[in-house]
Amino acid sequence: MAAVIDQAGRVAEPAREIPVALTTDVLVVGGGIAGVMAALAAGRSGAPTLLVERFGSLGGTGTAAMMNLFYVPYAASRGLVRELFDRLIARGGAIPGEFVVYDPELYKITALEMLAEAGVNVLLHTLVSDVILDGAVLRGIVVENKSGRQAILGRVTIDASGDADVAARAGAPFVKGREEDGKMRPMTLIFRMGGVDVPRLVDYVKSHPDDFSPDPLQCMLDLDHHMIRVFGFFKLVEDAKVRGELWPDCYYFRVESVLPERGVLTVNATRVYGVDGTRGEDLSRAEIETRHQMIQLAAFARRDIPGFEHSFILDSASTIGVRETRRIRGGYVMTEDDILAGRHYDDAVGVDANQQNPRQQGGHPPDGKEGGPQDVEARHLIARMFVYEIPYRCLVPRDIEGLLVAGRCLSVDHHADVYTRNQGTAMASGVAAGVAGALAARAGAPPRQVDVRAVQAALRALGVDLDLLSRLGPSPERLE
Ligand SMILES: Cc1cc2nc3c(=O)[nH]c(=O)nc-3n(C[C@H](O)[C@H](O)[C@H](O)COP(=O)(O)OP(=O)(O)OC[C@H]3O[C@@H](n4cnc5c(N)ncnc54)[C@H](O)[C@@H]3O)c2cc1C
Repeated sequence: MAAVIDQAGRVAEPAREIPVALTTDVLVVGGGIAGVMAALAAGRSGAPTLLVERFGSLGGTGTAAMMNLFYVPYAASRGLVRELFDRLIARGGAIPGEFVVYDPELYKITALEMLAEAGVNVLLHTLVSDVILDGAVLRGIVVENKSGRQAILGRVTIDASGDADVAARAGAPFVKGREEDGKMRPMTLIFRMGGVDVPRLVDYVKSHPDDFSPDPLQCMLDLDHHMIRVFGFFKLVEDAKVRGELWPDCYYFRVESVLPERGVLTVNATRVYGVDGTRGEDLSRAEIETRHQMIQLAAFARRDIPGFEHSFILDSASTIGVRETRRIRGGYVMTEDDILAGRHYDDAVGVDANQQNPRQQGGHPPDGKEGGPQDVEARHLIARMFVYEIPYRCLVPRDIEGLLVAGRCLSVDHHADVYTRNQGTAMASGVAAGVAGALAARAGAPPRQVDVRAVQAALRALGVDLDLLSRLGPSPERLE
């Protein structure tokens, strides 16, 4: 039945019954890096599992937004995460190292294969538009796809939508962006340039060290290990701005690559500030602005950067990359101080390790000026490795039962999000949510009441290393 409009221009949707299309034990919303791991872990734990994704392929920000870089050292990976890495590596789709860069197309098919082997049902091209509540208990979701509007029921739902769409619709508490002012990190449209003479580019960067970040993680020029990451070109960018060829708050150019011998580099340098990824109009504005920025950056590179003379825009991400939106409020809100202090939790269900500049230096702050001359300190920082535990309470929203979250929308504050928004934590929290969801569904208990020691035991049985922080401390020199 169609919506109706009255004389005053008000639109009403009549109440209607909708078909229950599917029923499952564990229902995962969002097939990004976190959701894939959640569904895989739930399936491996023996739970009938359904993964619902609005796009036509898996990987979310990692593939559709072209951010194909797991910010977790290969040496720190264990269990399902190591299995995924090794399968990608075996088919030539990833390079192990201080972080693991991967081929997004090979990720998409590898994820599908692993999910199929684990018996997970995958429903693509399906947007979750509402939730089904029984009091304060989440019973399922309402979806929209080419088949129309349908209900899907699950004993436990895992919100891995990145934006906490399910939790927000269910009425669970959340914050958006920075606690004090609600501002969010900038959005970026990533694009790829082909036809790059990478050895010539590397020679140029090596012969102009002052124009680039000294951080070995930001400036990787290791052609032998197929690793290219360059953050800088500060002077070239300033000169181009003086000539009016780049927009005013562009401060650097940044490229990274998997398999640079292909002559293809990923450009991560467009930025739009003051936009909210939970608003359709803001997402549209960011897509449009960054497309104009992309054209300027590609022309700049061709004109001014040795190695790019014959380059061309190969393609752009099929969606804008959103760094930050909602984070739920769970039984605990993890802070940066917790991470720096190496805090242990009795209910730790995951451990992540990644390199960061602490105290908000870097991390794409929402105020703009990232990497600019007024941010000189950030230009010269050298990142350190941080190892931190993720407590189960950060996955369990307050006030709503039957729901867990995984990935970018965990219960952490804006400063801890610098670390936890990365793909390492997305995967670790996904595995934890999948295992906990499967145990809760089997026990017929809400995830809040699940025995955390049983979850930890099941995670260890899947190969998760919950002792990494105890062994190495919070900021080890290296991970071996
Ligand atoms: C430009 C940029 C650069 C980054 N750089 C790095 C980096 O170098 N290293 C690193 O580790 N991390 C990086 N990150 C962060 C990291 O990539 C993401 O935070 C992480 O991939 C998020 O994973 P996720 O699974 O939680 O969420 P997402 O990747 O956002 O996945 C959510 C999934 O849910 C789907 N979805 C959302 N809403 C709905 C709905 N209502 N119905 C159905 N499906 C829905 C989406 O389509 C998507 O597939 C970067 C992020 C960006 C944007």
